[in-house]
Amino acid sequence: MKKVKEIVVISGKGGTGKTTLTAALADIIPGKVIVDADVDAANLYILLKPKNIRATDFTGKSTAKIDRDECTSCNLCRELCRFHAVNIEDGDYVIDHFSCDGCGLCRIACPVQAIKMEEQIVGKWLIADTEYGDFVYARLVPGAENSGNLVTMVRHQGKLIAEEKNIDTILIDGSPGIGCPVTAAISGTDLAIIVTEPTYSGISDLQRVFELTSHFSIKSGIVINRFDINPENTKKIAAFAREKGIPVFARIPHSHCVIEEITNSRLPSRKCKELSQPVEKIYDHLKRELLCS
Ligand code: SF4
Ligand code: SF4
Repeated sequence: MKKVKEIVVISGKGGTGKTTLTAALADIIPGKVIVDADVDAANLYILLKPKNIRATDFTGKSTAKIDRDECTSCNLCRELCRFHAVNIEDGDYVIDHFSCDGCGLCRIACPVQAIKMEEQIVGKWLIADTEYGDFVYARLVPGAENSGNLVTMVRHQGKLIAEEKNIDTILIDGSPGIGCPVTAAISGTDLAIIVTEPTYSGISDLQRVFELTSHFSIKSGIVINRFDINPENTKKIAAFAREKGIPVFARIPHSHCVIEEITNSRLPSRKCKELSQPVEKIYDHLKRELLCS
């Protein structure tokens, strides 16, 4: 079996064009599984238009649940809960699932065994067909935690499909930022494409996210999106890349065509040369760096 190569597209913050670039790469890299690991703001599906969707519930921590028929309103659980997760509503004792930490103390203490622990469904992971290849993505319940675990789950499902179908490339749309979900998205990958923009915050975000990929010893390349909106800052990004020895895979210009195609939920690289040409360059880099090695 071929070794599976994982390519992850990340950015220091949201809104840099990371997902658009992932979709454009999905259109030209042959034989791959696509994984949307940006589970907190999953929107790659809008461009990939999945069909034949198979969904599976994703459960998070267990939280307490009170059986109102059994509860004698002794108030003990409320006194004991240091997370203030037990409320009284219309005379009934109820658990606030967002506050409950799942410690189980109230269940042990309840004198009439009116409390049990229940796993909470915090989202779904989905497998679907697209014209670009097998696609794994997720939907997280609003406000739910555990997105790092859900990222790990969608990546795991992507690997299973790749192994089962003898596919050697996985393309991952990672989470923005440097928190737990992005750590889960990049750990163990073979190459990170860092998408940045030439704004002041874009440069500092790039520096932070590069520290993360360096920490995990992941080979990186930079893509400067909308490079022409601020030539001075683009030069600063190029200087940073030179200093750190990171290749700049491509510079993508600002484009009204891209904005219009995204607004209409169409894959912009099919129509806009301003995007498709740099994406070809990125793919050439990927072939040199990974896919042919
Ligand atoms: S400890 Fe049990 S009986 Fe007492 S209020 Fe809580 S759920 Fe009801
Ligand atoms: S399980 Fe723990 S955190 Fe949740 S309501 Fe009971 S005591 Fe409070």
